[in-house]
Amino acid sequence: MNRTIISINENHMTSNKRLHIIPALKDNYIWLLGNTQKQVVIIDPGESTPVINYMTTHQLSPIAILLTHHHNDHIDGVIDLQKNYDNLPVFGPDEINLPITKISQQKTLTIGDFTFDIIAVPGHTLGHLAYYINPYLFCGDTLFSAGCGRVFEGTYTQMLNSLNKLKSLPDNTIVCPAHEYTLSNLKFATHLVPNDIDINAYYQKIAHDAITLPTTIEIEKKVNLFFRCDDLKLQTEFKINNELKLFEFFRTQKNNF
Ligand SMILES: [Zn+2]
Repeated sequence: MNRTIISINENHMTSNKRLHIIPALKDNYIWLLGNTQKQVVIIDPGESTPVINYMTTHQLSPIAILLTHHHNDHIDGVIDLQKNYDNLPVFGPDEINLPITKISQQKTLTIGDFTFDIIAVPGHTLGHLAYYINPYLFCGDTLFSAGCGRVFEGTYTQMLNSLNKLKSLPDNTIVCPAHEYTLSNLKFATHLVPNDIDINAYYQKIAHDAITLPTTIEIEKKVNLFFRCDDLKLQTEFKINNELKLFEFFRTQKNNF
């Protein structure tokens, strides 16, 4: 499978926005959201070269960088991008130790004709932010397709609450996570619930796709066990009649899978 293919997915264009996905590092994605004037907001540039090459090829001009959390594979391209594009503003959570504009206390962020809702999603890191601009969600390492991020800094309660915030977004939300982990997440899910019809069907559908993202909230409600911890059938199956405890069980099982 060739992850180096760079694609603009025609299915994920709205009337005035364009979504671009750039594979980077080992299994990261850097997302660009553009407008009709070919201006783009760059989300989580873990490296600069593929972004610069992509923007040059497609004649795009960056107007801002948005960061979700402080991990290096999400921020390491920032300084080089700022060197290449004068005065490029960078926004992100207070936890990031770079000279950027800190926006953890804000509810929204407007850059040109883009207005993002800022959603605090502590758990993977304490300051993790997600950005929503209807219908797009940029969720870093909080929500993956068929999975979720590791709980490194927060508590399981925080992480579950964060996932539930994202789950409450509209079903047609186009979900843009920062990693290609879908197949390994589905492998884990089919190991835990081998007879789940939705999970098996989705696994077969995407098994040979080099790029499985973006996904949607509607799909994740079906195939993501971490979105289904309130499901009474699952709770009965695992004899854990509590959403938080079932979430903790799934997450710790995944850590050791
Ligand atoms: Zn991370």
